[in-house]
Amino acid sequence: MIDMLSNLPDEVDVLVVGMGPGGSGAAKRCAELGLRVIGVEKRAEIGAPKRCGEAISRHGMTERIGIEPKGPWIVQEVHGAIVYAPNGTSIKVDYDGPEGWVVERKVFDKHLASLAAEAGARVIAKTEASGFRRENGRVKVTLKSGNESKEVTSKIIIAADGVESKVAREMGINTFNKLPDICAGVQYEMAGIKHTGNMIEFFFGNDTAPGGYIWIFPKGRGVANVGIGIRKPWAKKTALEYLDDFVQSRPELKDASIIEVNSGGVPVGGFLTDAVDDNLIVVGDAAHHVNPIHGGGIPEAYMAGRLAAETASEALKARDFSKGFLKRYDKAWNDQRGTRLKKILKLREVIETMSDDDLNWLAEYLKGDDLVEFSRGGSGLVKLGKILMKKPRLIKLARKLL
Ligand SMILES: Cc1cc2nc3c(=O)[nH]c(=O)nc-3n(C[C@H](O)[C@H](O)[C@H](O)COP(=O)(O)OP(=O)(O)OC[C@H]3O[C@@H](n4cnc5c(N)ncnc54)[C@H](O)[C@@H]3O)c2cc1C
Repeated sequence: MIDMLSNLPDEVDVLVVGMGPGGSGAAKRCAELGLRVIGVEKRAEIGAPKRCGEAISRHGMTERIGIEPKGPWIVQEVHGAIVYAPNGTSIKVDYDGPEGWVVERKVFDKHLASLAAEAGARVIAKTEASGFRRENGRVKVTLKSGNESKEVTSKIIIAADGVESKVAREMGINTFNKLPDICAGVQYEMAGIKHTGNMIEFFFGNDTAPGGYIWIFPKGRGVANVGIGIRKPWAKKTALEYLDDFVQSRPELKDASIIEVNSGGVPVGGFLTDAVDDNLIVVGDAAHHVNPIHGGGIPEAYMAGRLAAETASEALKARDFSKGFLKRYDKAWNDQRGTRLKKILKLREVIETMSDDDLNWLAEYLKGDDLVEFSRGGSGLVKLGKILMKKPRLIKLARKLL
């Protein structure tokens, strides 16, 4: 195998650690802005194995990621959603055309990485970054690929190393997630399902998926991602046990085949308000940049990566890599995305305290468009507050939204 590391420069402007969506967004934008950038990914194949339901909304794809939804990475157009209350009452959101897509992450993530490479970033798989140490206003990092290793010096590190991020912690930021702030996810990719269609489905209930929900995201030809996210202290069993119970209870799933098993945590407790330090910017799951109501984080990570690159470029112009200067990234995130995500978190905190009876009652009042508004953190929150005011027991909760 070629010696991947020896060809690398000894010094760069930005080293991006992790080439998931956050890393690719950062590396691409850095390259576009003329920065010398390397993006390293410790896994042998970017995007694999996936830990993801692979669904992305139109807003996410075209605005936050900013790409045309065209290419071999799209496996299914999504024309709407069906949300099920605990008693089976359903709320439908129906669109004429695609309002989202289910992608094949291992193709999609590689596509995003190749866009970064095309823009001029140097991308290297099967290469792990470790041993971060600050020296003379720069950071020295050890890159390891198999038996090879190389020391690289970078002015700025963009930590895009996912939910288990060690880079930020090693460089001085506490990224710890408290137990209730982590959604434990397990997913089967299933084949041989009778009807998959073009709607994504969500199932709620304190016995079905406490503190979270179950999803069925179709991938065409009878294939779908069937997964669950749950949280402590609500959950009484493991995520896998809840998922198995659900699969066994569904006629369309119980005889289907499992062709892939995935698991992973989603940091849904709200993003880090302090995601920078000297020479360091943290993006994506590593900074808990996730929509706290549905756990989607691909577009959030990509957008955060882009904002991080823009801040890095400004820092290079100013020759200032201090925490004080890089703080403008926190502000940009907060202005462009954070304010909305905070609203969404507030909504989730209200919903998660509701009993199944309350949820069944609420489902009678809601329409599909309301759910879309909730997931986007729009004016729907006030509407929800007004509905909750109708039930004396929920007035206290309603006040949190009004
Ligand atoms: C079960 C489940 C279902 C989900 N479903 C959806 C969904 O349907 N839609 C959606 O939008 N989001 C979904 N998400 C969330 C989504 O997967 C993440 O938010 C997204 O991948 C975050 O991107 P990222 O770039 O921040 O991190 P990641 O995609 O996790 O990428 C981080 C990368 O860093 C690499 N890395 C770590 N340490 C190092 C190191 N030291 N050196 C080099 N490389 C390193 C890792 O190998 C990894 O590839 C789901 C998550 C889970 C767990």
